[in-house]
Amino acid sequence: MTSYVFITGGVVSSLGKGITSACLGAILEARGLTISMIKLDPYINVDPGTMSPFQHGEVFVTHDGTETDLDLGHYERFVRTARGGRHSNYTTGRIYESVIAKERRGDYLGATVQVIPHITDEIKQGVKKGAGDADICLVEIGGTVGDIESLPFLEAIRQMGIELGRDRVVYVHLTLVPYISTSSEIKTKPTQHSVKELRSIGIQPDILVCRSEKPLPSEERKKIALFTNVPEKAVISAWDRDDLYKIPAMMHDQGLDGIVARQLGLDLPEADLHEWDAIVAAKQNPTAEVNVAMVGKYMDLKDSYISLVEALQHGGIHTSTRVNIHFIESRDIEEQGVARLESMDGIVVPGGFGDRGIEGKIETVRFARENGIPYLGICLGMQVAVIEAARNLAGLEGAMSTEFNKETPHPVIALITEWQDHTGDTIERSEQSNMGGTMRLGAQAVTLQEGSLAARSYGNTNIEERHRHRYEVNNNYRDRLSDAGLIFSGLSVDDLVEMIEISDHPYFLASQFHPEFTSNPRDGHPLFKSFISAVREYSEGELPEAAEA
Ligand code: GLN
Repeated sequence: MTSYVFITGGVVSSLGKGITSACLGAILEARGLTISMIKLDPYINVDPGTMSPFQHGEVFVTHDGTETDLDLGHYERFVRTARGGRHSNYTTGRIYESVIAKERRGDYLGATVQVIPHITDEIKQGVKKGAGDADICLVEIGGTVGDIESLPFLEAIRQMGIELGRDRVVYVHLTLVPYISTSSEIKTKPTQHSVKELRSIGIQPDILVCRSEKPLPSEERKKIALFTNVPEKAVISAWDRDDLYKIPAMMHDQGLDGIVARQLGLDLPEADLHEWDAIVAAKQNPTAEVNVAMVGKYMDLKDSYISLVEALQHGGIHTSTRVNIHFIESRDIEEQGVARLESMDGIVVPGGFGDRGIEGKIETVRFARENGIPYLGICLGMQVAVIEAARNLAGLEGAMSTEFNKETPHPVIALITEWQDHTGDTIERSEQSNMGGTMRLGAQAVTLQEGSLAARSYGNTNIEERHRHRYEVNNNYRDRLSDAGLIFSGLSVDDLVEMIEISDHPYFLASQFHPEFTSNPRDGHPLFKSFISAVREYSEGELPEAAEA
């Protein structure tokens, strides 16, 4: 029987509710429980797949190919038993879409369809599906208490508390406790108001997690407890940390998992947090430092590449390397040339859509290839590597992806339907639509060429990785490209190019899939470990020269 922990937020957004939820999941899992995690998003978009990364950050892709909120990435990175999917992320739009479809089908038998009970019932059913058979399901409600949009979600979780009983439901509320520097005062009032707001809709929080710059002094803690009707020991202080991975221990040390366990009547073994301690230690004591350039499009909003940034850091953790990531707009490469890349020890071109800065990315690949700088290309980063090889190794002038130039004389990257007949499973795949698209989404099997850099990195020739893209390497060009030196070291079951590399280079590897979605700090990811190792070797090789200068 699954119990539920609902996490709401108050005062302001961007308090790190996703991370807090993920860390709570981590410390409960560390006590031997299985955890599932759900995000409820109050916005009206049906899914985050079509939302601008500028506004919304990365779209995280789950194993089953659902395009979800980036918080699901935090969940999977922190909690091993929580594997997200179709029922792990609901938006207002998706809830209404399904209620309206039911109404059109006549499922409500002519009843007046209302927010209560129809919308709230739909939310509760969704939550129960997402919970699966985990011991505890953590449900994070997006937005801030007091928003009009979040009301139906809050009402639904209120009802669940009544229906399941208070020994199966815990309410956690995350708030901000600001420090006013001019008067050197810590202010608890916003927290009091936020809890008041929550109580006015019928939810008395059991636990408060208070975000602040510094640890909360006990006097303020007492005051908050008194004004919010929450026991003092359940007022948890979550102060700013320099390292994300210190948060599980910070919460555990204040007894957060114990409070949840007690309320749910669970008798659990001690929390085992040694893996988190090891990560913190590894980050504090790197044996080398490297500089990696990430050349992409959404560089002002680092959240657009959050899983990739994390995965590179995980590579650092597992090779005792401090990884400094330098975000570079590919447009700047077009306008100012590759000079900025000269001091880099490694180069990554991440995934992306749209043609802005595409030539800058192609130039970046050329620079990495010609100068022997470790290169890792992800999705679009593989496609530009193929274009670069087509132009500069195979002499196919004007080679391009049809995503950016429909008239290219050499469509080395194109939609499957542009280079293959509509047959068999190709049709099936193109019907796997997302908003009328033909996106290849979710986990698929990849076979790696024996002895290749890819296979050596993975230590295996059979892998499975997640996809999110429309365009593919055009198989009609494969012979010409491999004659020119490109190695197709990974292929899908239906013979699509999944990985490419070149020999005579310290490390030049790119994938059509997104390995970053399956990387986590405790295990790391084989591809990122091998990349950072190569980057590190490259940077160490550079040292004597630098010392001379
Ligand atoms: N725009 C490219 C495609 O759709 C690459 C997508 C990506 O990098 N995720 O194929």
